[in-house]
Amino acid sequence: MGLLTFKGGIHPDDGKKLAREKAIVPAVPSGELAYALSQHIGAPANPVVKVGERVLKGQKLAEAGGFVSAPIYASVSGTVKKIETRFGPSGSKVGCIIVENDGEYEETEYAPVKPLEKMEKDEILNLIGDAGVVGMGGAGFPTKVKLSPKEPEKIEYVIANCAECEPYITADYRRMIEEPEKLVGGMRVVLRLFDNAKGIFGVEDNKPEAIAKLTELVRHEERMEVKVLKTKYPQGAERQLIFALTGRAINSSMLPADAGCVVDNVETLISINRAVVEGKPLMERVITVTGDAVSEPGNFLAPIGMNQRELVEMAGGFKTEPQKVISGGPMMGFAMFTLDVPVTKTSSAILCMTKDEVAAMEPSACINCGRCVEVCPSRLIPSRLADYAERNDEQSFTKWEGLECMECGSCSFVCPAKRQLKQAIGSMRKSALANRRKK
Ligand code: SF4
Ligand code: SF4
Repeated sequence: MGLLTFKGGIHPDDGKKLAREKAIVPAVPSGELAYALSQHIGAPANPVVKVGERVLKGQKLAEAGGFVSAPIYASVSGTVKKIETRFGPSGSKVGCIIVENDGEYEETEYAPVKPLEKMEKDEILNLIGDAGVVGMGGAGFPTKVKLSPKEPEKIEYVIANCAECEPYITADYRRMIEEPEKLVGGMRVVLRLFDNAKGIFGVEDNKPEAIAKLTELVRHEERMEVKVLKTKYPQGAERQLIFALTGRAINSSMLPADAGCVVDNVETLISINRAVVEGKPLMERVITVTGDAVSEPGNFLAPIGMNQRELVEMAGGFKTEPQKVISGGPMMGFAMFTLDVPVTKTSSAILCMTKDEVAAMEPSACINCGRCVEVCPSRLIPSRLADYAERNDEQSFTKWEGLECMECGSCSFVCPAKRQLKQAIGSMRKSALANRRKK
């Protein structure tokens, strides 16, 4: 039987060899830390500390600002210096709590937690919500809300997204081979919430060591199994992952729960484990610092709020001045204009490249080769959608299912005419979605 996968997709040079053999190193921040109040989808968090106050590592700095929101915790001990707006990784300004690190890492006392088997479902969900856990694969959606579907008994699959299909990023891979017990622990917690569900770890076949470790660990877990996926981008996109593992299809107006699925990525499941099994909040995450401009690419356990420039310095700094710095991977990440931004719960990588391949491309006219159609995992006609987008023809764009684009960038990657298909379709899609919300 062939490997599990989806239709379409591409095989870019994965660039993972730069950092995949580099063990996770704890990053030690030196200066001040900036805790963004908006590092999740939903309402910004509201500060509960005052300027001048001493805070401990693990202390709550800001509480959730609504039902869809998440609290923020200090990852060091120190003094609250300011509460002000600063640039976040995406280039927009966000409110931040600035803490001067005193270097003592004095930690707060955490409330004791019961053994998992003695907890009620509500207690588990509250621990996850109170710990500030959000989707750490990039979405930043509060995990408590995601794990509270209307009909939990209809959830049949809890999927651990272990694909890590974005080129260059190796943070999840290192977690899987260095701390697979914590990942399996997170799955165990989520399965307690869904009595009729089975847990699946979906791992691409370019990670044999991770497949072997996880398979060994779940050998006696009746409700868990490891499934091997074909290595292909964007195998880790939620819709493609669900389809490959269960054969179920969802579109942009459906949630995974509508197909009986819940999907969480590796770092999120590890944070769930920390919240429920250890009773500790989300204060850190693994980030890959990589690219051909970096002296010593690696994977770092970074405290939330740490300055990203310091992380690049930990990776030996630049050996060559980068032409382009990206937050995340090359396919779905976004260009950074400064490294002086804080690590957030959704920061997965800092990619520093000596060539800006997109800027070097001179687009030309479409030659109707059909390659973009072949690779589109959402089964769209990107060339046509980009035409509609360029003409600002929202009606035709929507009629031809432009809203189903997930901005994976596969079409731009293969286009011999170097058309910026993803950019054109992505911006039309955003404005069409905004117009739909207004109606
Ligand atoms: S149209 Fe959208 S979903 Fe399809 S390949 Fe292009 S970016 Fe990806
Ligand atoms: S890949 Fe580029 S050149 Fe080929 S059909 Fe699509 S838009 Fe046209």
